[in-house]
Amino acid sequence: MPKNLSSESLVFAVDLGGTHLRVALVDATGRILQQLKQDTPKGDSAESIVAALVSAAQKWSSNQGSIVAASIVVPGAVDSEKAVVLQSPNLPSLVNFRLKAALEQRLGWPVLLENDANAAAVGEMWLGAARGCHDVISVTLGTGVGGGLIADGKLWCGAHGSAGEIGHTTVDPFSGLKCKCGNTGCLELFASATAIVRMTREGLPEFPESVLKTGELSAVKVYEAGIKGDELALSVFRRFGMYLGIGLANLMNLLDPQIIVLTGGAVNGWNLFAPEMYRQVGERAFRATAQQVKIARAECGDNAGLLGAARLAFSLTGLTGFS
Ligand SMILES: [Zn+2]
Repeated sequence: MPKNLSSESLVFAVDLGGTHLRVALVDATGRILQQLKQDTPKGDSAESIVAALVSAAQKWSSNQGSIVAASIVVPGAVDSEKAVVLQSPNLPSLVNFRLKAALEQRLGWPVLLENDANAAAVGEMWLGAARGCHDVISVTLGTGVGGGLIADGKLWCGAHGSAGEIGHTTVDPFSGLKCKCGNTGCLELFASATAIVRMTREGLPEFPESVLKTGELSAVKVYEAGIKGDELALSVFRRFGMYLGIGLANLMNLLDPQIIVLTGGAVNGWNLFAPEMYRQVGERAFRATAQQVKIARAECGDNAGLLGAARLAFSLTGLTGFS
């Protein structure tokens, strides 16, 4: 790791999603100096992803001298010590690819790799809703459901790098719904944007008056219908909140965090799902715990992963302490 760090040091932070590739230059105070977003290269070639990252880095060549590391977050299980993606349904070409070696050679900076939900937890603890906390859980409600655990100020990755897979904990084993992970009844099947669309489609026969019976469904459309009082949309968000509440109560009893931060696009439905979520938590978690654990909306928005990536890189390069 480089020794000559200064307050002008920057991290080239990358949020490599299945749909979008976002890169940013972040300084040690969490300020984003430059940022860009593009589609993630499609196809099955890891090389095209490497090429896109190198080209993004070259656009900012005037800052090259200050960059101390590249820090990349991906949706999937990661061995961060070896910087290898172990499993990633949305980025299959990167699995077992030597991303670190390929990028270090081309960029000339140390390369770090971390799971995106873990990085989001770090970002929220650094500059978001969990500022000042040291026992933090983040739950990402997006296309799927991800999770990041911070215990005593440090990321808890588990013995094999896959801790925090909250979306794949079982909340309804008798639902008959199969998850892509192989299990039945995972939280992700009920508390994700994908689940909002599926549950709406399933509920249409029961609610023939719903405004959602025509046109293409999306989570945003279901939310907008819910705000206007559509009964089908409201029942979907109640169900979403019920299963999320079951999942969060399990987390509270297991880990007793200071705060659970909810991130991801589906958090925008908060007003519609939160009452049922809180009701389930109140019924299921230990009362003394439930009264003290805060459940909060994320504050870093789309940037939580990028900021967390930067923070992890700065702490590993020794510029700032992490815990
Ligand atoms: Zn699953």
